[in-house]
Order: sequence, then structure tokens, then C-alpha cells
Amino acid sequence: MLLNFRQAEFLTSVPRASLAPPDEGAEVAFAGRSNAGKSSALNAITGQRALARTSKTPGRTQQINFFAVGENMRLVDLPGYGYAKVPQAMKNTWQRNLSEYLHVRRSLRGLILLMDCRHPLTDYDREVLLWCADVGLPVHILLTKADKLKRGAAANTLLAVRKHLPELHSEASVQLFSALKKTGMDEARQVLSGWLKHHG
Ligand code: GDP
Repeated sequence: MLLNFRQAEFLTSVPRASLAPPDEGAEVAFAGRSNAGKSSALNAITGQRALARTSKTPGRTQQINFFAVGENMRLVDLPGYGYAKVPQAMKNTWQRNLSEYLHVRRSLRGLILLMDCRHPLTDYDREVLLWCADVGLPVHILLTKADKLKRGAAANTLLAVRKHLPELHSEASVQLFSALKKTGMDEARQVLSGWLKHHG
């Protein structure tokens, strides 16, 4: 059974993991390079066109944004990373924040990692995969904007990324995704539901 993601609603924004809502129940975090399509994916998965717009308002792009989906279950929008114009000092802060969040958050069940299917597995992406492997956190990769590639090219990208995963993370899976064409929506919702529903 799939969770009803349409009921997702904005909970809060915090600048640091230490200020996050109570660490209870279950949550799944979304991470990815800036512009990878994270907001579009969150909006498509929840069927709410403006859900992740909150995360895009000035002052909130570097924050951790929480959305409630039912009793004690949350989707978490982590700050986009790797934006070229961000100064190094901010990148370091981001790294510390993300790594802190991944390490301390007991209710975290898995990470959805978004990668533009035309530029998968950047150095940053690999680093995030290795961090997650290190703390035993499952990762599911969405290769976003799949509509931008022809069917054959998209399938080849999927195979190529899948081939590299074992050397980075033993519990990582990957799929094609398009928020625009709604490709891979059920598969993504199934992974999220599976992670979120088994909490006690
Ligand atoms: P974020 O920075 O990771 O939150 O990325 P956004 O969701 O804001 O998307 C970045 C850009 O990619 C925007 O111009 C989107 O319109 C575009 N985009 C996102 N998802 C898709 C998709 O599935 N297909 C196409 N063609 N463009 C997309």
C-alpha cells in the first residue's frame, strides 16, 4: 500500500540538524545538487505543485525543510549542494550540516538522492553515497529529467549508474524519473512508502 503523499504539508524550516523537530517516527530525506530537480520531484511525488516552493523562498534555500505526511512521518528537503556560486566557506558549512544530520538523525530511514540523468555521479554525489554507506543508510537514486534523453540513452545511463553503485554503497538502488512526464512516480512512491511505514 502506498502512503497518501497528497496530504503532505509544510512543517518547519531549520538552519541546523540540532534544531530539527523531535526525532520520532520516520523520515526520508531528499538531497542533490542544486538544479538537479529536487523541488520538482517533491512536488510531483506529493501531487502538490507548490509544496517545495517553500524551500525555494529566499533565506530558506540553505535550510532543512520538513514536510509532514501523516502520523509521525516526514519528508525532508535538504539544501541543494554544489552550486558553483556558493563560496567555499558555505560549502564547508553545508558539508558539516549534512554529515551531522545523517549521523544524528535516528528517525531517518533512507535518502532519496537526485541526479540529473545527463550528469550523474558527480564528486559530490559520490561523497554523499559514501557517507550514507558509512552510517548504513539506504539510498535510492532518482535519475531526474529522464524526458531529456532518448529512451535508449536513458536506459544506458540507468545501467551505467547501476553498475557503479556496488563500489560506492551496497544498499543503493536507482531508477529513471521525470517530474515533467511523471515517469517513475509509482516506483519512487513505493520506495518512500516502504521506508516510512515500518516505524515503531
Ligand atoms: P532543484 O534546484 O533541485 O530544486 O531543481 P528544480 O526542481 O527547481 O529544477 C531545476 C530545473 O530543472 C528547472 O528549470 C525545472 O523546470 C527543470 N526540471 C525539473 N524536473 C524536470 C523534468 O522532469 N523534466 C525537465 N525537462 N525539466 C525538469
